[in-house]
Amino acid sequence: MHKLFVSPEDIRDNTVTVTGNDVEHLHALRVKEGDDIKISDGVALNYDAVVKEVRKNSVSFELIKSYEFENEPKIDITVYCALLKGGSNEDVIKQAVELGANKIVFFSSSNCIAEKREKGEKYAKTARQAAMQAGRDRIPEVVSGVTFAEMIDGLAAADISAFFHEKADLPLYDVILTKKDPRSAAFAVGPEGGFSDKEAEIAIQKGIPVVSLGKRILRAVTAPLCALSVLTSVYDR
Ligand code: SAH
Repeated sequence: MHKLFVSPEDIRDNTVTVTGNDVEHLHALRVKEGDDIKISDGVALNYDAVVKEVRKNSVSFELIKSYEFENEPKIDITVYCALLKGGSNEDVIKQAVELGANKIVFFSSSNCIAEKREKGEKYAKTARQAAMQAGRDRIPEVVSGVTFAEMIDGLAAADISAFFHEKADLPLYDVILTKKDPRSAAFAVGPEGGFSDKEAEIAIQKGIPVVSLGKRILRAVTAPLCALSVLTSVYDR
């Protein structure tokens, strides 16, 4: 069942009315009066709800029961991804949202060939739709326009961090074994052309593990997917 996101302040007397883009989505799903649906306030609570009224520009729901979030990983994962070409950034957003990332950050790197156009609104919409489809309890935040240095600081602040580089030997699982009960993880994936040796050197100097995802070279869109699968297989049980 798809999930709908509302703002907590829009909930009054156990009812909530949705307008805007989500209405189109609900019409496309052919939602009708009496249907059951799951709603999240995106902050703390999920609700079992029933459709009360379907109109052209709005849909109203009655909230039947509330309960705490149950579909979020136990660890806060941030994906740092170098700006990629074409629609690849959006592929990364969709997959990262499905696989449990809490934040997706696009940064610039010396081998980036992507144009640095600001697409914040589009990215936020992609994350929202992916979260609805995946039944997430919250909508992951997407940030763009971050520098390489800011990305490195972000990695350094996490309990588990990994700078993925195809020339590295250190397996991600070995990094995981070094930390007991981590609360956060952050990793960085380079652009299509990879990280430069100089960039990998900066990560090493800052004490960030430079990590391998296996002996094969993964595409930039595949690498986050692989890393998230490993992390959630360990921390999302
Ligand atoms: N420079 C390479 C490919 C880069 S792949 C080339 O052009 O041949 C894009 C990014 O995916 C890399 O920067 C790295 O972050 C990640 N990546 C791909 N395969 C990897 C592997 N086996 N181990 C670690 N990281 C990998």
